[in-house]
Amino acid sequence: MTILEPAPRQIRRAQARQSQTEQTRRLTEKIMAQSTAPAAAKAKAKALTLSQGQLTDAELQAWQADYAARLQTIYQHPEQNLGHIEESLADAVKEPLRLLAERAAQAKANATACQCRKCQRELTDRKQLSRIIDSRFGPLTLWRYYGWCPQCEEWQFPADYALGLAKKASASPYVQEISALLVTKMPAEQAVPVAQRLGLDLSRCLLQCEAHRQGRKAQERRAQTLAQLDTWQDIQKLTRHTEGPPTQPFTLVIEIDAWNIRERDQWGQTQELLQQGKKPERWHWVYMATVFRLDHRGQTAGQRSVISQRGYVATRLGLEALTAQLYREALQRGLGQAQQVLIIADGAVWIWNLAKDRFPDARQQLDLWHAEEHLWAVAHDLYGRGTAQAIAWVNPLLQQIRDDQTPTVIATLAQLKPRLLETQQKKLQTQIEYFEHNAHRMKYKDIFDARQAMATGTATPDQIHLAHHPVGSGAIESTCRQYQCRFKRTGQFWTTAGDEALLCLETFWRNGRWQVLYPHAKSSAALN
Ligand SMILES: [Zn+2]
Repeated sequence: MTILEPAPRQIRRAQARQSQTEQTRRLTEKIMAQSTAPAAAKAKAKALTLSQGQLTDAELQAWQADYAARLQTIYQHPEQNLGHIEESLADAVKEPLRLLAERAAQAKANATACQCRKCQRELTDRKQLSRIIDSRFGPLTLWRYYGWCPQCEEWQFPADYALGLAKKASASPYVQEISALLVTKMPAEQAVPVAQRLGLDLSRCLLQCEAHRQGRKAQERRAQTLAQLDTWQDIQKLTRHTEGPPTQPFTLVIEIDAWNIRERDQWGQTQELLQQGKKPERWHWVYMATVFRLDHRGQTAGQRSVISQRGYVATRLGLEALTAQLYREALQRGLGQAQQVLIIADGAVWIWNLAKDRFPDARQQLDLWHAEEHLWAVAHDLYGRGTAQAIAWVNPLLQQIRDDQTPTVIATLAQLKPRLLETQQKKLQTQIEYFEHNAHRMKYKDIFDARQAMATGTATPDQIHLAHHPVGSGAIESTCRQYQCRFKRTGQFWTTAGDEALLCLETFWRNGRWQVLYPHAKSSAALN
C-alpha cells in the first residue's frame, strides 16, 4: 500500500493559513490584554485592600428598585401567587448577595495572616493569585496571598484554609455540603435539576466529584474516631463523653444485617475480562448495624414504632471494619452504662461470631420473623405454597416457637424425616440444624406474656420493661432497605472506593454528626 503524501504546494498553503490565524490570534490577545490590564490591576488592588463586606448605597437602591418593579408586575397579574413572589424575590436578591459574599470573603481573606498553618512561620516570596469559587450565590472571584514556608518546604494559601476552601476544588463549604447531601440521596444527574430548583447552578461533574471528595473526607474523619479505640485510656474517655448518665437502668439494643451491592472494580477492561471468561462485575457485602437504647424506643399515635436516638454503622470494607465501627458506635451510645446488651439478628453465623468476640456478655436473640420464615419454607415444601394444609400444619409450630418450645418443634421436624424423599430429607435436615444452632437464642415467651399483661393492665414493673423488647430485627432491616434505595439501583455500578465514600457520608448524616463535617451546618436531625 502506498501512502499518499500531500503535495508540497498544499502544505505551504496550509502553513500560511495557519500562521495567519495564529498571528491574528496573538494580536487580538495582545490588544485585549492591553485594554483590560489596567482595569484588572485596579480590581485586584481594590480587592486586596477590602476590609469589610458591604454593598454601596447605589447598589442597595438598585436592588430596591429591581424588587419593587418585580413585585409591581406580580400585583398586576391576578394569576400569579405567593410562589411567584418567592421566586422573583430570590432571583432579585441573588446578585446583591453574590457581591456581598464576594466582598465579605475577600475581606476575611485579607485579614488572614500570611503564615504557615503548620508551623506559624511568616511565608516568604509572597505573591497574589485569584481564583473563582462556586458559592451558594454564584461564582465569586477571590484574590489571596500565597507564599513559601522554608521550614515545611511548601507553597501555602493561608486565606484558602481560613475560608474552608480545598486546594483543587472550586466548591465553597456550603456547595461542598450540598453536593454531599444531594448525591447521597440521588444520582448526580438527578441532583442537577433539583439543585437548580433550589437556586443552585451546579454541574453534574461538580456535584459528582465534590460528593466523592466529601466522602473521602468523611472516611478520614471516621478513621480518626476509630483510632480512639487504640488504648484503654481513650476508650474510658470516650465512654465518659457519651450523653449524660442515664436516670434509670437501660438495655442497649444492637441489630446487625448485611446486603449485596454490585460493584465494578476494573473500569475500561470489560472486553478483556469477558475474553478471559471473567465477569467484570462483582457482588460485595455491605455490612450494617444499628444501636439504640430501649428506653429511646416508643410508638407513634398510629402504633408505628419509632426510635428517638439511634446510631448507624455501614461499611463494605469487611467484617473487621464493621466490628471496629460498631464497637465505637456502641460505646458512644452507652455500652459502658448499659445494664444489659441485646443483640438481635437473623441466623447468619458471622453475626454471632462477631457478637461473641466483641460483646461477650450480650444476650443473643434470633429474629422471630426469620425463624418463622424457616418453618414456612418447610410447610410449603411439604404441602405446597399457600395451601390450607400448609397453614394448618405450620400454625401450631409457630405458636410453639412463641412459647419457647423450640425442642418440640425440632422433634416434630425430625419425626417427618423418614416419610420423605432423599432430597426433601436433606432440605429438612438443614432446617433442623438451623433451629438446633439457634434454639438458645429463641426466647420470646416472656416478651409476649409481658405484652399481654400490659394489654390487660396486670403488668409488673419488670414486665412493663420487657414488653418493649423487640422480637425482631425490623429496625436494621428497614435501615438496609433505605440504604438500598440509593445504593442498589438496577443497572447501577459502583466502584469500591466510590460507594464506601458515599456510604460513609450517608452514615454521618443519619447519626446526626453532619456538623462534624460541616461546622457551618448548625444541626442535622438524627434520622430513623
Ligand atoms: Zn511551615
